[in-house]
Amino acid sequence: MIKLLGVPYDGNSSFLKGPAYAPPRIRQADKDGSANSFAENMLEIREGMNYIDLGDLIFNNCTPDKAFTMINRAAATHIENGEKLLCLGGDHSVSYPIIDAFSAKYDNLNILHLDAHGDLYDNYEGNPYSHASPFARIMERGKVRSLTQVGIRTLNPHQKAQADKFGVQVIQMQHFNFDFIQQLEGPLYISLDIDVLDPAFAPGISHHEPGGLSTRDVIRIIQSIGVPVVGADIVEYNPVRDLHNMTAMVAYKFLKEIIAKMAER
Ligand code: MN
Ligand code: MN
Repeated sequence: MIKLLGVPYDGNSSFLKGPAYAPPRIRQADKDGSANSFAENMLEIREGMNYIDLGDLIFNNCTPDKAFTMINRAAATHIENGEKLLCLGGDHSVSYPIIDAFSAKYDNLNILHLDAHGDLYDNYEGNPYSHASPFARIMERGKVRSLTQVGIRTLNPHQKAQADKFGVQVIQMQHFNFDFIQQLEGPLYISLDIDVLDPAFAPGISHHEPGGLSTRDVIRIIQSIGVPVVGADIVEYNPVRDLHNMTAMVAYKFLKEIIAKMAER
């Protein structure tokens, strides 16, 4: 059975707080009755039917170090017997302790990272655990086989140098097409930062970066993946910035599509 875990931690957000409120708001989009619970392949995505909701981790304003230890241990425990895990963030910093657990479990893990930002800063404003740095931390540990970043539209010389140093495949928004999907290898972990979308599709995010993907583009990416997806996260949804819960509904749509993909094999 697939597991769903809320990771409501935004202590490493550099600009705005708010993503810590995300997990219950995404679940609410499921409960409020405006949408049915089917993925587009007609698989019904229901708690207890094809996934178990483990609830949210509880942080009580703890330090980033302690939060990361908690997240890492929880993720490691929940995937111990090969179970698939989808985490709802939280800011993007939570992906480092989660993916670290996956890279300990799978020695050939590949990552698909959808984001407006490369999140490869060696540190950001002095914080090496910043939500702008998780993929620097992951790649310097040298335990994943590949990282493919898609939707990037904020590359600067430092992050380009970091991407080159770590051998990251970067598909910038200006060159975007769907060809990369055929090159993806499994086991695959999907890290989905909601700000990969154009802010027109998803206003409830901290960093409005124009010129992004459409909701349909991201759905098509998820649906076209042909390798096993063992884990995923949906991060950076910020309810404080949302309008009429529009972005919560987008995150819920992605949740259904990702679980449907995980359920394939
Ligand atoms: Mn990010
Ligand atoms: Mn981002």
